Amino acid sequence: MLLPIADGRALRTTIGHLIARHRLELAAVVVLQVLAALAGLAGPLIIGRLIDAMTRGAADAATVDLALVILVTTVVVQAILTRFAQLTSLRLGETVFARLRERFLESVLALPLSTVEIAGTGDLLSRTTSDIDSVAQIVRFGVPRLLITGVTAILTALAAALVNPLLALVLLAGSPLLWAGTRWYMKRSKAGYRRQLASYGRLVGVVGETVEGASTIDALDLAAAQRRKIDEALRERRNAEWYTLGLRSVWYPVTTLGLLLPVVLVLLVGGIMIGGGLATAGQVAAIALYSMQLAGPVEELVTWMDRIQVGTTALARIVGVEQVPADREPGDARPQSDRLVAEDVRFSYRDGTEVLHGVDLAPTPGERIAIVGPSGSGKSTFGRLLTGIAAPTSGRVTLGGVELTRLPIPELRERVALVTQEQHVFVGTLADNLRLAAPQALETELIEALRVVGAAGWLRALPQGLNTRVGSGGVVLTPAQAQQVALARLVLLDPQTLVLDEATSLIDPRAARGLERALDRVLEGRTVIAIAHRLHTARDADRVVVMRDGRITEAGSHDELVALGGEYAGLWNAWHGTAGEPPTH
Ligand code: ADP
Repeated sequence: MLLPIADGRALRTTIGHLIARHRLELAAVVVLQVLAALAGLAGPLIIGRLIDAMTRGAADAATVDLALVILVTTVVVQAILTRFAQLTSLRLGETVFARLRERFLESVLALPLSTVEIAGTGDLLSRTTSDIDSVAQIVRFGVPRLLITGVTAILTALAAALVNPLLALVLLAGSPLLWAGTRWYMKRSKAGYRRQLASYGRLVGVVGETVEGASTIDALDLAAAQRRKIDEALRERRNAEWYTLGLRSVWYPVTTLGLLLPVVLVLLVGGIMIGGGLATAGQVAAIALYSMQLAGPVEELVTWMDRIQVGTTALARIVGVEQVPADREPGDARPQSDRLVAEDVRFSYRDGTEVLHGVDLAPTPGERIAIVGPSGSGKSTFGRLLTGIAAPTSGRVTLGGVELTRLPIPELRERVALVTQEQHVFVGTLADNLRLAAPQALETELIEALRVVGAAGWLRALPQGLNTRVGSGGVVLTPAQAQQVALARLVLLDPQTLVLDEATSLIDPRAARGLERALDRVLEGRTVIAIAHRLHTARDADRVVVMRDGRITEAGSHDELVALGGEYAGLWNAWHGTAGEPPTH
């Protein structure tokens, strides 16, 4: 499944809004460009007049000198005006693009997590990179050039019509060719470009997956299969490129012909018209010069049409991200207490395959609950529902009477947080990483949070302390350190309820015990639901919940369950008998 792509209407609305918002700047660009183009039109007119005067024998040295001075002046004026027109239009392009990029970033950040998981990163990545690049090209250069060349072309045609309307008609000779060729091309290229961009997303996805999973691929000897996948993605990419290249190789020659035809015809028809007394030599010269001046802008217009095609396809993919429906609609109700209740919770990732079959859990505030059970029994899924990352397919998870998915996310996170073993260290300073949870936190608070999770030692060893750059390109933190950073974020976020999904599993047992003891102090008074792989976590909990095949099969204190002699007792005895845990507790 790919992320949505905006349709024509949504796209027109977006572009309409952008134009409306920048209409003043747009008007300034057009006015400047009209003036510049007018200055550029004087040349052929003056030369035409001069030719006619010479033909009549009425041109003396003074007239020629005057014409030359005027010519040079108009060229200088045109250059100055063009400079300001370009500057204004480029500035406009940059502003519009910056707006677009900010809007896009906002919509990407607002994407529901489940959508990102399903759509895969390739699609999103290609939209944030190559699609943004194509749009940048259009907005920064395409739109400004389009304005400039459009205005120039129209004014040039008008000027020719003023010189000699009949002969100016010949300028239209290439239009049918241009029109038909462009139409033929546009009809086919839209789908072609869409396919080309999608194929790029696929390629990025496969290559990224190969790089990330390199050691797995080596270990399982999957190189051949992976190579086939890459080859296939490359082949699709090549075919898509090949197709649009084929289209261009027809369209370009037709366009060139359409542009040259008027130049040749003006001279031919002009010659005949001079013979018939319908035009002067000067008029023919002027219009021939105009027709040549027209070729540049028109050719540029037509080429930009092509790139704009790519750009609008890319824009449709970017605007499409905004159309992902929100997975929740926050209401006005606010929790009356911190009591978390899961009632008859069922959940399916795919229609028809339920992985949770009616689970109930109601921790009393301050309770420590451990969830244990075999892998695949639904513990992590339940943890996601308990923290409101997804809504149950049926049943309810409420906090103080309000469904979790009806709370705005920032507010939800201040009350209920999930810590998993996938911890990401963002590129930036250590302080930046911690302030993600609490933007206003003081340095002393950051240091205290790190101390609580047992990171004071390595913090001291960092060259610039909190201001050390971490993440890729900076100091690389070990998985255990990354996990401590994540836990320190939690200390700062200070939620009443925490779901720890194997949160300490990457830390070696001794360190984990130390960390857990440190955490114990922080967790004092909070509700903690720990999805436990180490059973000593379960032994220390107030209540142990055993899950199997998407159901809770046993619940009670450690001692009760051991005495019961059921599934937990079996797990405990097996673990206690064999585990190499030091008996230090
Ligand atoms: P546990 O945490 O106990 O190991 P999980 O909650 O991860 O169990 O998985 C429960 C069931 O849901 C398993 O059958 C697993 O295959 C399935 N499952 C987990 N994540 C997904 C997903 N993203 N899409 C589809 N099925 C999933």
